[in-house]
Amino acid sequence: MSLMVSVSGVRGVVGQTLTPAVALEFAQAFGTLLGGGRVLLARDSRPSGPMLEAAALAGLLAAGCAVTRLGIAMTPTVGFAVRRGGFDGGLVVTASHNPGQWNGLKFLDRTGTALEPQQARQLVELRAAGSFRIVSEPPQPRDDPDAGQRHVQAVLDAVEADLSPLKGLRVVLDSVNGAGCLDTPRLLSALGCQVIHVNSDPTGRFAHPPEPVAENLAGLGAAVKEAGAAVGFAQDPDADRLAIVDERGRYIGEEYTLALACWFVLSRRPGPVAANLSTSRLIDDLGRRFSVPVLRTPVGESHVARRMLAEGCVIGGEGNGGVIDPRIGYVRDSLSGISLVLQLMAQTGKSVSQLVAELPRYTMVKEKMELDPARAKDCLEAITARFAACSPNTVDGVRLDFPEGWVHVRPSNTEPIVRIVAEGPDAVTTANLVARVRAAAGL
Ligand code: MG
Repeated sequence: MSLMVSVSGVRGVVGQTLTPAVALEFAQAFGTLLGGGRVLLARDSRPSGPMLEAAALAGLLAAGCAVTRLGIAMTPTVGFAVRRGGFDGGLVVTASHNPGQWNGLKFLDRTGTALEPQQARQLVELRAAGSFRIVSEPPQPRDDPDAGQRHVQAVLDAVEADLSPLKGLRVVLDSVNGAGCLDTPRLLSALGCQVIHVNSDPTGRFAHPPEPVAENLAGLGAAVKEAGAAVGFAQDPDADRLAIVDERGRYIGEEYTLALACWFVLSRRPGPVAANLSTSRLIDDLGRRFSVPVLRTPVGESHVARRMLAEGCVIGGEGNGGVIDPRIGYVRDSLSGISLVLQLMAQTGKSVSQLVAELPRYTMVKEKMELDPARAKDCLEAITARFAACSPNTVDGVRLDFPEGWVHVRPSNTEPIVRIVAEGPDAVTTANLVARVRAAAGL
């Protein structure tokens, strides 16, 4: 597997494609892109973190950056702290939900959000050219161990519901031994909950594959049932994504994280919502219920965050469990997600399964196939022409909205593959939609 370089950063297998030299170069390039400036540096809990963090620190200092180290911190903590502290950028050593032998670098700009695609491209070009800003007397690095606590406090300060129904509520938290271990229990306790914390040591030795999807969360479901808990929350290693298990120990599906969070926010403060084109129609249903517009963006949290900023959205995110609360930061944040979902439970007095039952149930299908970029372009054009009556959205691949469901066909930016995401009321209808679109494209 080669080094993966995309708008969301750099990822590779440690010691093979991701070495200290690679981290050093990308950090030098990032410091050069920022022209020096004040930068936050953090890492998730992986064992390779200190090594790569040291390399990244050297690169930032060489470029003349004034670096503040947060140590092990969640990506959303870094996004929050960059914005609140008026920093010029943030660098997080993390491979997000990739397995333990991986690591990577995520870059945040001065708004605390992922780089714009154009900036990300510039970063890659600077690294390739190797022409870095260099200073002979770098500023001395500082440490700030309290950013996580301030992040928790900001989430608490944003609470709107009466929390008394949460008093003593049992909640199981699975932090997968990642960066969420340190501050998330503090948030839950402060919200009044009784926390049962599993995979709670920030060792980076993941107790299960770290992507918070159904097949990896059987243990959380069992722990919820065993504890008689009201809800289970699962974070990925850098704690930007959040998945939920209901009081019966059932995984409710990642798409429901953003839907439940949106529901609470819109019930309090109706306003525009942003979500990417591959996010469930649940968001459109909520938009209709609360008479607010839902703005669709290309895939990638940077696109969602920037649309939120531009349009004054009250909430936004991505269907993969990524909730962005603009009052906290313009980055996906599991702490915001946890707080908003618990507040919805407190406000309605309903269990997670009752809340889910009040939303429509859809079936989502995700497929990917190998296809070279030229052929992919022809396919997209064929689909757009064949389904012109559906007013195709072509800002990121092509998305078609039919009365019964939708299909989003999108070429990858990093690999010669095309992804198809579709959603309908049931498996048969959804499969038929995919088949119609594939037939039109000759796929
Ligand atoms: Mg992540």
